[in-house]
Amino acid sequence: MRIVLLVGLVAVLLAPAAAATTDPQVTVRLNVRPPWALSFREPWLLNGRPMAPGAYEVVPSAVGLQMRHRRGTYEAARGVLSVEGAGPASAAWRMPALNGRHYRGTLLFRGDTVSNVVHLQHYLYGVVAREIGGSAEPEALRAQAVVARTYAMAHAHNGTFDDTTAFQAYHGAEGETPAARAAVDATCGQVLLYDGRLAREVCYHSTCGGQTEANENVFMSNAIPYLRSVACASAAEPPLGGVGPDLVRIFPALRRVHTLPFPPLAAESGGTTAACAASDYFRWTVTFPPGQYADAEVLERTPAGRVLRLRVDNRTVSGDPIRRALTFRGERGRVRPLYSTSFELSRNGDTLVATGAGWGHGVGLCQWGARGMARAGGTWIAILERYFPGTVVGTL
Ligand SMILES: [Zn+2]
Repeated sequence: MRIVLLVGLVAVLLAPAAAATTDPQVTVRLNVRPPWALSFREPWLLNGRPMAPGAYEVVPSAVGLQMRHRRGTYEAARGVLSVEGAGPASAAWRMPALNGRHYRGTLLFRGDTVSNVVHLQHYLYGVVAREIGGSAEPEALRAQAVVARTYAMAHAHNGTFDDTTAFQAYHGAEGETPAARAAVDATCGQVLLYDGRLAREVCYHSTCGGQTEANENVFMSNAIPYLRSVACASAAEPPLGGVGPDLVRIFPALRRVHTLPFPPLAAESGGTTAACAASDYFRWTVTFPPGQYADAEVLERTPAGRVLRLRVDNRTVSGDPIRRALTFRGERGRVRPLYSTSFELSRNGDTLVATGAGWGHGVGLCQWGARGMARAGGTWIAILERYFPGTVVGTL
């Protein structure tokens, strides 16, 4: 790094930063575009050099990156700037703030992108709170922490890992809660293993609606042994898997399960209550504008009852893309995909109505189900065993 110009930035002398933990680090690309606003209420480090608190702006320049301050400009000719807090970040206000959000670890500016290089545990503090809610039950928080850790260890080194729900939602330290941090700390190093290896395909969603779905029926990918369809029931209920082809061959009467109409949910048979019934999206209805999707028709369902193939606007759509083929205007007029593929269609004149269950793709951990299981006394281990059959919790 060549310093072209450094005017008036006041360096301060500081004690060395607290020793870093041995936890692995992850690199998360942040979905914020330049110019970036940086603010510091504590001394901080720029490419390892102590700097004074204050407000700064970072912008790409003709020769690299510029950091501007009311008292001068710092030019990083090679286009890389590294920014981190100088002391132990025991409170959010001690951390560097990027566009108003505080981040642990290091902010790495390169060209027109910015990434957060952060210890895995600290990354998870923010993810767990963001993904399942910082006030969720402790056992549900722990289950979420293990799944998020497993997912991050499988994906966070591919260079495209970012802070959006395309991977895992992460807004730095914003939204961290003591309960979320405690769950991450209590499960430190614990991941989901299958066959002695990291269960790399783990995933989760908000609300399954009563029965989760096998991955191949949603992502149209190869079947993953631990991403099966299971009943989303409280801890006291045995997890009932979907009916596989072999069982149907042996017991032809089971074939009718494949043609069950919506809702095909184990939760609504035998008086069982779904663990995720407390979710606002456990059941929903979407009414489309008159005339829209005039030819929409369900062609095929999965054994668990989700829509597997749909004809709409003269084309056939399969799996999770079905949700994006039936968009509607939600709150504040935003166009959004249908909540889930667990729905049935009806018509009222020329108006199409979708009545459905759950929110999200329905594969893997049901977050509201985890919360329901936790409220019913289920442990984080029991939660993970239900939603990821055949996996074990362990360390790598
Ligand atoms: Zn559920």
